[in-house]
Amino acid sequence: RFENITMAPPDPILGVSEAFRADTHEMKLNLGVGAYRTEDLQPYVLNVVKKAENLMLERGENKEYLPIEGLAAFNKVTAELLFGAENSVILQHRVATVQGLSGTGSLRLAAALIERYFPGAKVIISSPTWGNHKNIFNDARVPWSEYRYYDPNTVGLDFDGMIADVKAAPEGSFVLLHGCAHNPTGIDPTPEQWKIIADVIQEKKHIPFFDVAYQGFASGSLDEDASSVRLFADRGMEILVAQSYSKNLGLYAERIGAINVVCSTADTAARVKSQLKRLARPMYSNPPVHGARIVSNVVGNPELFREWKEEMELMAGRIKSVRQKLYDSLCAKDKSGKDWSFILQQIGMFSFTGLNKAQSENMTNKWHVYMTKDGRISLAGLSSAKCEYLADAIVDSYHN
Ligand code: PMP
Repeated sequence: RFENITMAPPDPILGVSEAFRADTHEMKLNLGVGAYRTEDLQPYVLNVVKKAENLMLERGENKEYLPIEGLAAFNKVTAELLFGAENSVILQHRVATVQGLSGTGSLRLAAALIERYFPGAKVIISSPTWGNHKNIFNDARVPWSEYRYYDPNTVGLDFDGMIADVKAAPEGSFVLLHGCAHNPTGIDPTPEQWKIIADVIQEKKHIPFFDVAYQGFASGSLDEDASSVRLFADRGMEILVAQSYSKNLGLYAERIGAINVVCSTADTAARVKSQLKRLARPMYSNPPVHGARIVSNVVGNPELFREWKEEMELMAGRIKSVRQKLYDSLCAKDKSGKDWSFILQQIGMFSFTGLNKAQSENMTNKWHVYMTKDGRISLAGLSSAKCEYLADAIVDSYHN
């Protein structure tokens, strides 16, 4: 009976916003969820999105069901954006692309594919990683374990630990990698380190499984942020890649993304695609059309595409500037001699502050700064006007 159902715990990320809404303090700051805000800390709808929506309205498009695999024009542009239109994986039709319910739904579909066609295979995920990864694999009944990634002593990458753990995983494991702007740490491997990671994955016959939630949003360049995925594709490897347009096009609630499976032949890709459709049909039947049309209009129209890149550079630039200002404020306020330069080395919308659970709680309870308990802050929710206040809060929390 329903009476026997117990209360579920609040979500560690989305639960932070609920607590924030209940706080009435004037300096309160929501650095929990990773959503872009303007300098006035307001949500932002990109101009190119509004323009694409106007075009769509003018055309008077209908609301018929999409095919199970999604909008064909979207699937084409999303794979091209990821790999580059001239990439041999595209030219040789070796990518099975299926529109998904944003990054999360695309990861979930890939997890269902692993569960069905690779029984017993393990996914290895970074420690730490985006909190929902574990939920996704648990619910899909895919076994997972962690590989070392973060070194608390340097607030940097534990590269040797990572390589050792990837080597030690059973041959043929799926290695979950963040394409760029690792969440929650903001710490990415260097291009040289990516090559070594690819070497080890190839040696061990593992399958790289990329989560690309920030293409173009991390560095401001779509190509640069896709370079990790392309390095693996250029080696002729089979790869899984989940994509999201939540951040880079600000389409959070439209739930638009894709799963791409790079196969060794076009024939294999066609078979994989047919099975992805078979998995999607009983889960949600077919995906929503609105976000798919926005993306295909923006990416498929040279003028809107150019404008999108400009807006993305602006968003990425605002985040970089508050990152710098936070660093400057920390150096000015903290008299302990602590080296804060790790903040500048991190990329993307998040910064891992190194604050532990008790210190993160002090940030919220004393300073009204809402953040996840792992010490992660979203710089996209920070304004330049509030950098000094945040630095005061961090310095106080560190030393208390
Ligand atoms: N993966 C990572 C690493 C993320 O940070 C996010 C967004 N927080 C996602 C996937 C998925 O987001 P969405 O489902 O909105 O695309």
